[in-house]
Amino acid sequence: MSTSVPTGATDAAKTFLLTGIGELTTNVAADGDPCGTVHDAAVLVRNGRIAWTGRATDASEALASGAEPGVRIVNAGGRAVIPGFVDSHTHLIFGGDRAEEFTARMAGERYAAGGIRTTVAATRAATDDHLRARLAALVAECRAQGTTTLEVKTGYGLDVETEARLARLAAEVTDEVTFLGAHVVAPDHAGSADEYVDLVVGDMLRAVSSHVRWIDAFCEEGAFTADQCRRVLEAGRAAGLGIRVHGNQLGFGEGVRLAVALGAAAVDHCTFLTDDDVIALAGSDTVATLLPGVEFSTRQPYPDARRLRDAGVTVALASDCNPGSSFTSSLPFVIALAVREMGMTPAEAVWAATAGGARALRRTDVGTIAPGTRADLVLLDAPSRVHLAYRPGVPLVRRVWKDGEELPTAATP
Ligand SMILES: [Zn+2]
Repeated sequence: MSTSVPTGATDAAKTFLLTGIGELTTNVAADGDPCGTVHDAAVLVRNGRIAWTGRATDASEALASGAEPGVRIVNAGGRAVIPGFVDSHTHLIFGGDRAEEFTARMAGERYAAGGIRTTVAATRAATDDHLRARLAALVAECRAQGTTTLEVKTGYGLDVETEARLARLAAEVTDEVTFLGAHVVAPDHAGSADEYVDLVVGDMLRAVSSHVRWIDAFCEEGAFTADQCRRVLEAGRAAGLGIRVHGNQLGFGEGVRLAVALGAAAVDHCTFLTDDDVIALAGSDTVATLLPGVEFSTRQPYPDARRLRDAGVTVALASDCNPGSSFTSSLPFVIALAVREMGMTPAEAVWAATAGGARALRRTDVGTIAPGTRADLVLLDAPSRVHLAYRPGVPLVRRVWKDGEELPTAATP
């Protein structure tokens, strides 16, 4: 690897050498290792981008030769460094709280998609300032746990005015905003799902489209049929949006096959899959995004990540952070679940929560530590990434940088 760095103005705050890294996960596949692991490593960050990665001893020589005179040194003290997490599936903007529903579910009540309507009522009633403050607090919570790229969905407005508000507010915190008007049939249209879909593909899509990059639909019994989802997703595509699908969460269904047929970037949940679903995914560019926080919080069976990986399917892990079925923003927790409950190796799970999430968002500038990518880095208070699964519930995220800028964490308030 080259140590040459383009000349020109340097932003000192976003330029440093992170060295003394015991185990660096680059996600640049090498020698049969998809994680591109480098031991005793260093990373040179220049103006918020990765300029160089390699062995720490080579970095010392490069610096001594004057390639980067006076660069600030950050010593990792032998700890592990991974790319910032890419959380490709969240519902972070909403009003209200569903702790009572969670308590009832833990006491034995079954989870169904209809609980979403409780949040819709609270979200419609909330002011912009209230929604903005709640969203900011949740984004800060995500970042403190190492998430540097976030997708945020609408879907708790379900009327033209509120969906447009949610899309606009979400766009203030991320470029990865998804229009999920087809989350459930709005309460005002109960009993006439097709009429509600007319609204979603018409006035609602027009009202949100300048704020969003993606369109999504919940293909599930109790939400929308495959035909209704196809209408929504094709309308989004005609408006220039990329496609994502919620599918096969609560039972077998057509979500996965619809997603593959439409060339969706990702189909999310994938808990109930036939062999044909798995074969379709393996032969496609559609990422299977698994959301085990949901199964943990709803006592549903976990998706079989091992089966998908063995079939050659690209798997991402995400939080699905939402007030009903998975109110966690922690990708370390999701990684621990994926390893403990879904048959993933620690290396596969960390890859899926970083590079996998980037694939699910069709991004090449995040999820990987390589020259030219964004300097989104997480320093773990651990000697290896395995500790993310091995030490569940322990706050191992010690320092986080986004675009080369250090963010506050629990360890560095
Ligand atoms: Zn979701």
